[in-house]
Amino acid sequence: MKQRVTVLGSTGSIGTSTLDVVARHPDRYEVFALSASTQVELMLAQAVQFKPRYVVMASEPHGRILAEKIRINGLESNVLWSKDALEIIASHESVDVVMAAIVGAAGLAPCLAAAKAGKRLLLANKEALVVGGDVFLRAVKKGGATLLPIDSEHSAVFQSLPSDPASWAHCIEKVILTASGGPFRTRDVGTLRDVTPEEACAHPNWVMGQKISVDSATMMNKALEVIEARYLFGVSPEQLEVVIHPQSIIHSMVQFHDHSVVAQLGTPDMRGPIAYGLSWPERIASGAAALDFSAIPAMTFEALDVNGHPERFPGLQLAWSALRGPSGTCAVLNAANEVAVAAFLGRRIRFDQIHRVNLETLATVTCSQPDCLEDLIALDDVARMAANAVVGRIAR
Ligand code: NAD
Ligand code: MG
Repeated sequence: MKQRVTVLGSTGSIGTSTLDVVARHPDRYEVFALSASTQVELMLAQAVQFKPRYVVMASEPHGRILAEKIRINGLESNVLWSKDALEIIASHESVDVVMAAIVGAAGLAPCLAAAKAGKRLLLANKEALVVGGDVFLRAVKKGGATLLPIDSEHSAVFQSLPSDPASWAHCIEKVILTASGGPFRTRDVGTLRDVTPEEACAHPNWVMGQKISVDSATMMNKALEVIEARYLFGVSPEQLEVVIHPQSIIHSMVQFHDHSVVAQLGTPDMRGPIAYGLSWPERIASGAAALDFSAIPAMTFEALDVNGHPERFPGLQLAWSALRGPSGTCAVLNAANEVAVAAFLGRRIRFDQIHRVNLETLATVTCSQPDCLEDLIALDDVARMAANAVVGRIAR
């Protein structure tokens, strides 16, 4: 039987890489549903190629334009744009696998729907777990879902761990996430205030969506990943460490109690972790190039106060303080960061002010104890309002 796959965010960087892997294995996978925000033409091309039963657009105008094009092209896909459309395609009884590749907290509701419906849930959308935290994990457990990491670091950790999750608590000493250091690892710290969106989005090793690219430049991506690792692997904040590894060859590692370290290596190509998520516990061809060790000049590591400048990546520490704060703090941090990144990309605030928006939002919002999706959405709304107020005060 072929596995039927829903790809949430199919027009994005992870979404298109997922469809690339799926297309390599027509004997194993078929596409059940696709979703996108506004990219009608790309969605039409994907519908022509994969013939999904459903396609979802985030708004009615885009949905209607796509529906007309689907009709003209003689396709049978149903086009949806209702508020609950993402939840429908994430939890539909015909679906086996859900790739969560929407960016930001917008992906939380369909992730929870897939979790509750017991799907194999491939999590690229780290913000959903950062916001959802224990509520998310409870839904996975209750629904009997299989939650598999797609973020390259977390896939690496997962691949480095024993297969039985029940043994993890007894054997893990530390989870060590590698970070490339992004485009500004060696830039003069005094010039970070002048960084443009174009510079921030030019990552040295990975081609990604705009939001995660800016997060990689501020290191907020690594902060979100520290929080993500806390939930995925059940470790304490003290067991999480970050080391800079500019070549992005070691994708992350686990240090065990005997001080043996197991790492996963590969070329920086997200099709590797995506293929592993799709096929686990088997392995299938991903399209990623093999490592050529004879062509790797060096693998280097650096402590985080790169070049003696701990102020280069001030946001990273927020991961540990948010994890130690009341539940809900990580959701507030995520909302603030989404607002701040959008304001930076819209040239309303400077690059170095992203951290200020995050700090001031954390200082003003009281983190309630969210217990369900509605609580999380309410907290996310309050945090966004507070973050927008900070942006309004400092915008140029
Ligand atoms: P992207 O911006 O390239 O794509 C985002 C996708 O989500 C698009 O299909 C877009 O149409 C859709 N989308 C955006 N906002 C939406 C909304 N409000 N409602 C519905 N759909 C919406 O982003 P990406 O780089 O593919 O990243 C996706 C997720 O995967 C992010 O959470 C990111 O952190 C994570 N991730 C990405 C990479 C990478 O290499 N790109 C690596 C690890 C993790
Ligand atoms: Mg990552």
